[in-house]
Amino acid sequence: MLIDTHCHLADTAYASDLPQVLERAWEAGVARIVVIGESRERAEAALAMAAVEPRLVATAGVHPHDAQGWSPDSEQWLRELLQNPRIVAVGETGLDFHYDHSPRSLQHRAFEAQLALAAEAKKPAVIHAREADEDVAAILAGHPDVSVILHSFSSGMALLRAGLVLRHYVSFSGMVTFKNWRLDDAILETPIDRLLLETDGPYLAPVPHRGQRNEPGFVRHVAERIALVRGMPVDELIHLTGENARRVFQLQASASDS
Ligand SMILES: [Zn+2]
Repeated sequence: MLIDTHCHLADTAYASDLPQVLERAWEAGVARIVVIGESRERAEAALAMAAVEPRLVATAGVHPHDAQGWSPDSEQWLRELLQNPRIVAVGETGLDFHYDHSPRSLQHRAFEAQLALAAEAKKPAVIHAREADEDVAAILAGHPDVSVILHSFSSGMALLRAGLVLRHYVSFSGMVTFKNWRLDDAILETPIDRLLLETDGPYLAPVPHRGQRNEPGFVRHVAERIALVRGMPVDELIHLTGENARRVFQLQASASDS
């Protein structure tokens, strides 16, 4: 089962042609898409999509860029949304010390609070980590009960290993097809039962679509590159990563599954 475990379909980049984007994804063999809700507004939009299309599920959380807006009110709406069975994970949350759009102390606070909510809801957390490997590893070590997806992995091997020790999942995006990709070791070191595929659309379109808007149908290019690195048939990789996605996000079978 080919699954795009991370796409921002509620982004305005898809506002004008979402039905066509989805149609192309299904035609490309995509069976499920995890729609990321990285703010209250986006989470509610993602949930509305998942409510009418059984092949979509949603997440809800606050991106580290917006962590300074975290408040008791955020905690309340997120806790409520997490009770919905179509919301399968918290996130994306995490730390971004590259852009530093929110002060680091406030990024820490929002990240910790969201991991606590994930534990409470017994749902996994989708993690964004950029130039903050040590802090992310330390915080995750403090929440060993939360299952985590290190999304669009491009961090160092130390964070990879810290995550794997905790039996976390590692998701690779279109970056694995870029000329300047240098982390094949991370692809090889991630156990096959912890690997996930994603597009992270609308950004990071894989080769041969680099520079275009990314979309879920392109996730096959990510699968092909990872299968090549691991020296395994792409169909087997798609099957195994699909099993992983269904396990970590607790996805239900759908009438449309073949
Ligand atoms: Zn994302």
